[in-house]
Amino acid sequence: MEKNHYELAILGAGPAGMTAGLYASRARIDHILIEKGAPGGQVLTTDWVDNYPGFPDGISGFELMDKMTAQAKRFDVNILTREVASLELSDPSIKKIVFYDGSELTCSALIICTGALPNKIGVPGELELAGKGVSYCGTCDAPFYRNMHVAVIGGGDTAVEEAEYLTRFASKVSLIHRRDELRATKILQEKAFANDKIEFVWNSRVTAIEGENEVERLQLVDNDGNTSTLDVQGVFVLIGITPNNSVLPLEQLGADDWGFIKTGCETETAIPGVFAAGDIRSKLMRQVVNACGEGANAVIAAEHYLANRSVA
Ligand code: NAP
Repeated sequence: MEKNHYELAILGAGPAGMTAGLYASRARIDHILIEKGAPGGQVLTTDWVDNYPGFPDGISGFELMDKMTAQAKRFDVNILTREVASLELSDPSIKKIVFYDGSELTCSALIICTGALPNKIGVPGELELAGKGVSYCGTCDAPFYRNMHVAVIGGGDTAVEEAEYLTRFASKVSLIHRRDELRATKILQEKAFANDKIEFVWNSRVTAIEGENEVERLQLVDNDGNTSTLDVQGVFVLIGITPNNSVLPLEQLGADDWGFIKTGCETETAIPGVFAAGDIRSKLMRQVVNACGEGANAVIAAEHYLANRSVA
């Protein structure tokens, strides 16, 4: 029979949540890992992961998450597939999770690992060529574009910083921005303007990403309506990311201006007994490697919270 109370609930089964489940199970904590769809999170749609330690030849995002899921199952991680509708976190000792199907469960400690999604430009070819030249992460994929011409879309800190990083590998980076002025901080702008591998394509938008089996060219339109074609072998869409926070009580938890959860260095939020790990956290770097570390950390922090609470 299904229980309705657990010592620890973990929301989201991406790398952070899956690692939290593994650590909770191995620590013999009475736990449940809740995921609305297939376990794996955003990495499932990542074509190739070349920067996760232990895989010298790289590994597909799907296979990496398949392996993490298999490892979690070996340790009997208790996974529940159900979509959360809301959280009630006002009671300091009992946290309530309400599901869309009307069911509920409670927990004493909660780890939020709901992740984030990169924003899309929503043009033809973007989804079809994702992982085949369309990327949402320069730090992850830059080495695949050695001596190639690539484009970056966006004008914020991420786009400008990643354009700069891409020049370590690519022969040329065309930064396409919809205005004639960057949003990025001045220091990043100055570095980018001084880099002769970066070409700025101002006042322009991408209207289509084209290629037979991989990215070959972009169709552009400028703000006066003139169209042009840009031949590139890769395109990095870096126009911000959106946290998966729709069911989270952000005011109680503490969040930054973009809706990511602010935590202390042990992943604790402003609510005692509630922790956050992975891409939903407000932080500088969003990669599988730190998501896993944070998931493990959050379990240890939750374990301390549970132990101290039973002593009190
Ligand atoms: P961002 O600051 O929101 O910038 C998004 C950029 O994408 C803007 O230039 C925007 O254009 C453009 N854009 C948005 N929607 C678009 C669309 N549909 N088509 C074309 N262009 C579009 O996002 P971010 O760069 O990811 O940064 C997010 C936050 O993280 C910021 O607070 C940033 O400071 C911080 N961050 C800090 C660092 C650092 O400190 N080193 C590094 C990375 C990020 P407009 O300018 O015209 O709106």
